Amino acid sequence: MSKVLTDSFGRNVTYLRLSLTDRCDLRCFYCMAEQMVFLPKKDLLSLEELGHVADAFIARGVRKIRLTGGEPLVRKGFLTLVEHLSRHLNAGLLDEITLTTNATQLHRFAGRLRDLGVKRINVSLDSLDPLAFNRITRGGNLTRVLEGIDAGLSAGLKLKINTVVLKNDNADDIPNMVTWAHERGMDMTLIEVMPMGDTGEDRFDQFIPVSEIRNNLEKKWALHETAETTGGPARYVNIAETGGRLGFISPLSKNFCAGCNRVRVTCTGKLYMCLGHGAHVDLRGALRVGGAETLDSALNQAMINKPEKHDFEIKKSGNKSGTTRHMSATGG
Ligand code: SAM
Ligand code: SF4
Repeated sequence: MSKVLTDSFGRNVTYLRLSLTDRCDLRCFYCMAEQMVFLPKKDLLSLEELGHVADAFIARGVRKIRLTGGEPLVRKGFLTLVEHLSRHLNAGLLDEITLTTNATQLHRFAGRLRDLGVKRINVSLDSLDPLAFNRITRGGNLTRVLEGIDAGLSAGLKLKINTVVLKNDNADDIPNMVTWAHERGMDMTLIEVMPMGDTGEDRFDQFIPVSEIRNNLEKKWALHETAETTGGPARYVNIAETGGRLGFISPLSKNFCAGCNRVRVTCTGKLYMCLGHGAHVDLRGALRVGGAETLDSALNQAMINKPEKHDFEIKKSGNKSGTTRHMSATGG
């Protein structure tokens, strides 16, 4: 194997987030514009090319791959890519294949994903109230999502609920959601809204620091800090009363970049070294023009360009700083 991917700050990249599509069957108001313009399908990497990209990272020491989007489960035929990755898992070249999904289609795929070696899945869910869920997702059906979650749990998958905290839409319901998740054996992570892409809504109206939510929870429950990290941005507590684990991701109120071990590849093959920066390397061009060797050199180039940290900020004036890319385009 050639050299592991190490950036100019000495951080090893062992975790790839691979986006399968920018499309989605929901339109969460903090993620997408209501009338979202999607990429032409011809610009997307084929599933085979996504497999080649994954292979290049695995050859350079990436041990964990998360499939994301857009909504990864709406990419037609995506299971063929999971089958491809599953072979690396069986060969001991990969520790984990995982996904982030909105779970609207999980009832269709949970069993097959488990059979291919997927053990843990992150499910994004921002409300247990059908009306609030419908409003936040601009039209989503909560029942479908809950069916997907039940199917995942019945298949024996370990699910984690990810919830973006929204000042006026779910902040007051977080204790109920934590209770619900922990009763079902699911960990939960609370995430601050990040200024990514224009969604037609003012971020300032949505943003609430997770520290504020945490203070409220501490009035109700005993939160015990854990030393655990996943190499990622979350800080975890165990809650004595619910017996479950709760994570906090606070990109705005607390920077988490020092231990960053991850990069992201979009469905068109753009390799972003940081969620909060525009610098990227075109892997599609490298793959199509030069093949495996050029692709490998492109990874070296990317490591030189990985920035030290993001510079997200939400100002009172609203959605001015951050990136123009939507989270759904970069791969959340
Ligand atoms: N569709 C899948 C889902 O929702 O789980 C995967 C892609 S989605 C872009 C990945 C994650 O990004 C979701 O948990 C979503 O809530 C989060 N997300 C999207 N836009 C965000 C934003 N502006 N700030 C914070 N989180 C965001
Ligand atoms: Fe779709 Fe996920 Fe974005 Fe919601 S957060 S619009 S489910 S990609």
